[in-house]
Amino acid sequence: MKQIGYFVRFILLSLCLPGWPVALTGSAQAASAAAGNALLISDLHFDPLADPSLVKQLIEAPVGDWETVFSSSKQTGYAHAPQDANYPLIKSALSAAAAESSVDFVAGTGDYLRHNFEEAFLKAGGTSDEFTEFATKTALFVVRALQADFRVPVYFALGNDDSPCGDYRVDPGGPFLATLADSLEVLKNHPDAAADFRVGGFYELPHPTLADHEIVVLNTVLWSRSYAICGSDSGDAGKAEMQWLSWQLYRAKTCGKKVMLMMHIPPGIDSYKSAHAGAGKAATEFWQNQFFTQFLDLMKTYGATVQIALAGHTHMDDFRVLSPDGSASPIAFRITPAISPIFGNNPAFSVLQYQVSSGDVTDIATYYLNLAGGRSDPKWALEYRFSNVYGYSAFSAGNLQSLAAAIRSDPSVRHLFAGFYAACAPSPIKPDNWQFYACSETQFTSFDYASCLSTLQNAPAKSGQ
Ligand SMILES: [Zn+2]
Repeated sequence: MKQIGYFVRFILLSLCLPGWPVALTGSAQAASAAAGNALLISDLHFDPLADPSLVKQLIEAPVGDWETVFSSSKQTGYAHAPQDANYPLIKSALSAAAAESSVDFVAGTGDYLRHNFEEAFLKAGGTSDEFTEFATKTALFVVRALQADFRVPVYFALGNDDSPCGDYRVDPGGPFLATLADSLEVLKNHPDAAADFRVGGFYELPHPTLADHEIVVLNTVLWSRSYAICGSDSGDAGKAEMQWLSWQLYRAKTCGKKVMLMMHIPPGIDSYKSAHAGAGKAATEFWQNQFFTQFLDLMKTYGATVQIALAGHTHMDDFRVLSPDGSASPIAFRITPAISPIFGNNPAFSVLQYQVSSGDVTDIATYYLNLAGGRSDPKWALEYRFSNVYGYSAFSAGNLQSLAAAIRSDPSVRHLFAGFYAACAPSPIKPDNWQFYACSETQFTSFDYASCLSTLQNAPAKSGQ
């Protein structure tokens, strides 16, 4: 056991060394003919204000001219923590991801706009009258860049920062959603999906490559504890979305189809906030109780219909595995790390590999840019493959349950997971707080989380940590 521990620690140290010599291009081509690939990209948090000298021009220029304006910038270095992603970083991430030429589709799990956008816009010389248009242009710029660089279907879920009226604020049926609906190419020729998106930012579409599969894109900002509407009350969008999801799952199950769920904010616990609050403090749940309870009920009935759930929001490389009570099938959640380096993480994206015969997810490869390594000209590189480092042949709910158990019981697996968590930047997971992160992988309510924490914190310490 101890030797295995040393072995995985050796892998971790090797992988996280700057300049790990794995070529980016060509890696996905090793996939067998029966495999498909999807790019997972999240939390880009594009900051168009990063070069203050361009702001006036950007306000005046139509979004179609923004590329030219950014190209004229003298700022060519990458943004670093605590900044969001500047143009050079977004450009470099998209071209590194586009080098994965065998990708069939792209899943963007939200937060395309920078944090504290309006405040920064006003400081940079914009006025509040100009902000709505500026934020909308920024969202369109990111949407168009993703669609132009990949030339495959790009599915967009909305995040809490994707709003012209403030963090966690949504305007159901408003002009921001309408403008985006007109520019999402996946919605062209799907008037029902486009109509749903215009109302609440959620939609359902057929899977681009698998006949009996669908992609259900949720707007989980509407279920967040921090959600607020922008203008006057237009009814309860979150409740309507849950009823809509119930219908989508019923229809898929009845027709013998499987569903890939996409969302920004996952259900469950904010492990970072909870770790910082400390033991004995109430954990922070991402979703409102009523919505988590209803979602859990749906998963009891439709767990086997959900192939995988994709999320972002935490900015870290993480997973969740939701086990509804009884005989219901557990659900695997992939949390894709961020492109934005704001929290000290390295920028990263993933390529998910799936079987064309079944849709089963066979592997996830994660690529990163080692900004935290301190080199002047870092390059994108393969960080790790799930199958290689953890030894599983599928990214399945069953294997994630077993990985979550190994993270708790085996210090060497825990060390490995902690190393990849911030994409090889210094990890927030430490020997004295790992329980807060480990419990969030399988526990979704503050009650269950607290009992998991007390069990792990009272367990005798294992050697090697
Ligand atoms: Zn974010």
